[in-house]
Amino acid sequence: MSNTEVCDVVIIGAGPSGAIAAAMLAKKGWNIMVIEREVFPRFSIGESLLPHCMEFVEQAGMLDALHEHAEELGFQYKNGAAFYRNGERSDFDFEQKFSQGPGTTYQVKRAVFDKLLADEAEKAGANFRYQQTVLSVETDEQGACLEIGSEQGNYQLTAKFVLDASGFGRVLPRLLDLETPSNLTNRKAVFTHFKDNMPANANFDRQKILITVHPTIADVWYWLIPFSDGTSSIGVVTRPEFLDDSQTPEEQLLKFIHEDDNLSVLLADAEMLQPARVIGGYSASVKSLHGPSYALLGNAGEFLDPVFSSGVTIAMRSAASAATLLDRQLSGETIDWQVDYDEPLRKGIEVFKTFVMSWYDTGFQNVIFFQSEESEVKPMITSILAGYAWDETNPFVKSSTRGLRMLTKLCEAD
Ligand code: FAD
Repeated sequence: MSNTEVCDVVIIGAGPSGAIAAAMLAKKGWNIMVIEREVFPRFSIGESLLPHCMEFVEQAGMLDALHEHAEELGFQYKNGAAFYRNGERSDFDFEQKFSQGPGTTYQVKRAVFDKLLADEAEKAGANFRYQQTVLSVETDEQGACLEIGSEQGNYQLTAKFVLDASGFGRVLPRLLDLETPSNLTNRKAVFTHFKDNMPANANFDRQKILITVHPTIADVWYWLIPFSDGTSSIGVVTRPEFLDDSQTPEEQLLKFIHEDDNLSVLLADAEMLQPARVIGGYSASVKSLHGPSYALLGNAGEFLDPVFSSGVTIAMRSAASAATLLDRQLSGETIDWQVDYDEPLRKGIEVFKTFVMSWYDTGFQNVIFFQSEESEVKPMITSILAGYAWDETNPFVKSSTRGLRMLTKLCEAD
């Protein structure tokens, strides 16, 4: 390994955003170097995908591989979201949505899903280096210089552009002082995988994520994400003050599960497969999603909240958008990253944020449990839940705050 290497684009991190951007740019013939701190497969959270993200998997040329390997990797075909609150149920079928685009997707074990995408990007021509860490980055209008740490020693990489896809590692936001406080409430998630042993006649649809509102604390909720091999991911999201720190994460999770009647029945015979994990303080924001010779993708830029499973979709959309713009820039066009990248991407993120905030103040929960199959707005709400938060033909995207306020009032008046 020479001490300074040169490439067109360095991508920091090989998660979904890094892999999608790497594949798209490599297919255009650019010399791409992906630097990843871990060895794949590695655990990651974020297992329930939204149909909109399938468009970016397809743009990156990975859709056939995803369908082909879905069964052997335990990916569960997913066609919607189901909600439960104190005996009330409400189902959303993603095929019945307002927006154009795919209506189904998968629930995936991220360790093998992320490896599949990264391997496909490598086949498309991108170079991947695992167990190497980006330690420092300097950028200006001419390009970027990165210091990489590896077992063989440190070395430098220079590139025309850097895409930061480092997720919660948030490499450039930390190094370049881009962080800005998120205005979402600090919450924690406790989660693990179970062999679920759910009876075949259980009142439960494995093809949907099940989101359950805690029976007495309205801003506490659970996810139940089944995979196709009889295992499920289960987690609870809560304000930190509702966690008893004298208990282990496993005890905390089981305590919450037992507090809900429906989950208690569904998971009566479930066996925990691995220690529970706790993650908190994940909502994050930045002053800008771009700067001289760099752009931020996915969680390295903005992360809202797990509740509508929007994370991977935002990550992939940001990757596809940045890769398309960067290809044009490297080909000699002038790109206005503020107008062409930051502003359009944030529009959809803001739509999700409006719905997330309304979920926690219970307005959107009431909307969800109010929807009948005849409701004219149900397909529009379904579109948002399926990830189509950038489709401005949907009135609940175009004027999400006003639309949601009106709808919330209607539900309350009934
Ligand atoms: P990541 O997938 O985090 O990948 C970043 C990569 O960068 C990692 O592999 C990391 O090792 C590497 N890296 C970090 N620092 C460095 C460095 N210095 N040098 C080199 N490599 C580095 N999203 C959904 O869509 N559906 C869900 O159901 C869902 N559930 C969630 C539940 C919880 C509790 C939380 C917190 C999030 C959830 N998310 C969900 C969000 C999802 O986890 C993220 O949005 C998604 O993983 C972001 O992808 P990414 O490519 O931006 O980053």
